[in-house]
Amino acid sequence: MSELRQDPTTREWVILAPERAKRPQQGPKKKRGADIPAWDEKCPFCLGNEGRTPPEVLRLPLSKRTSKWSVRVVPNLYSALNPDGENNKGMSGDFFRHREGIGVHEVIIETPSHNTPMALMPYEHVEEVLAAYQQRYNALKANRQLKFITIFKNHGWSSGTSLIHPHSQLVATPVIATFYNRKFDVAHDYYVDVASCLYCDLLAEELERGERIVAETKHFAVFHPYASHVPYETWIIPKEHRASFGLSPPTHLAELAMVLRDSLLCLYRGLNNPDFNLMIDTSTTEDEKGPFYHWHIRILPRLSTVAGFEMGSGIHITTAMPEDTAARMKQIANSCAGGECISFKQEG
Ligand SMILES: [Zn+2]
Ligand SMILES: [Zn+2]
Repeated sequence: MSELRQDPTTREWVILAPERAKRPQQGPKKKRGADIPAWDEKCPFCLGNEGRTPPEVLRLPLSKRTSKWSVRVVPNLYSALNPDGENNKGMSGDFFRHREGIGVHEVIIETPSHNTPMALMPYEHVEEVLAAYQQRYNALKANRQLKFITIFKNHGWSSGTSLIHPHSQLVATPVIATFYNRKFDVAHDYYVDVASCLYCDLLAEELERGERIVAETKHFAVFHPYASHVPYETWIIPKEHRASFGLSPPTHLAELAMVLRDSLLCLYRGLNNPDFNLMIDTSTTEDEKGPFYHWHIRILPRLSTVAGFEMGSGIHITTAMPEDTAARMKQIANSCAGGECISFKQEG
C-alpha cells in the first residue's frame, strides 16, 4: 500500500510505494570496489601526482616535517566559478537577471589511496576529512561576498562523479540555492510560529518515537526521515542546536566521524557499495548563530534513477518505508565485526 507523506523541513510531498520495489529491474552490472587498483598513474589525486593539481590550499596533517599527506584540498581545475570577481549584477530587460560567476570551487582529496572509500577508512582518517571540511568552510566565510558554502560528495558514476579517487567538493557562492532558501523559509516560519527550532523539535519527536532512529550517540543522532526521498536516505544531526557546521565544536568531530563512517559502512555492506550523494546542509554564513536553522548531513543512496515523473513534478516515489530501512540498518550494524560500527552499537 502506498502513502503520501510531507517532508516537514521542505513541505515537499513524497510518495512511499514499497510495492514498486518488486518491479523487474534491468541494467548493466556496475564495477565494484574490488576491481579498482590502489594507485593509478593517470589519476591526478593519487600519491606522487600532486603536481597535476593546482597548488593546495590545505594539507593535513599540518606538520611540515613529513612529506606524506592524508588529506589535501585544492582549487577545482575545472571550476564553474571564478574566485576573483567584482560581484557585478544587473538586469537586462524586465526578466533576465544575471550576475558575475564569482565564487570558490574546491576539491577535498580525502586520501592518497585510489581505492579506499570513506566507508572503509579508519575513524581517525574520516575525522581528518571532516576537519579539512570545517577549516576550509571557516576560512572562506571570512570573505563576506560568499553567502553560502556547501560541502558535498558524489560517490559512484550514477551520483555524477567524474573521478573515482575518493574526494568531496566545496562550493561557495554569493547566492543561495532555491532548495536551501526553501529549507530556511520553512524553518524560519516555524520559529516565528512556535519560537523554537524545527529541527530540535523534530529530532526530539523522532527520538521519542524511535521507529526511524538508526543510532544515537552523546552528541549525534542518525535516522531515516519520515518522508524519505529515496530508500535508505540517512540523516546525521547534532543534538545540540547550531545553525552552522562551521560552528560545530572541533571536539565533536571524532564522534561525528564515527557515526558518519558507520552510516556509510552499513550502506556499503547492506547495499553492496551503492552510489550516493552526501550533503552538509548548513545555514548561510550570515545566519550562523541563528535560532531557527540547524545543520545536518544528508546521505542519499542512488538505488534507482530519477525518472520523468520525479523530474517533471518534483514528487519522489520512494520504494521502501524508512521504518523498515532504519530497522535493516540496525541489523546490518549488529552483524558487523567487533571493531566495526561501534557508534551504532552503543546506547546514547
Ligand atoms: Zn587516484
Ligand atoms: Zn535546533
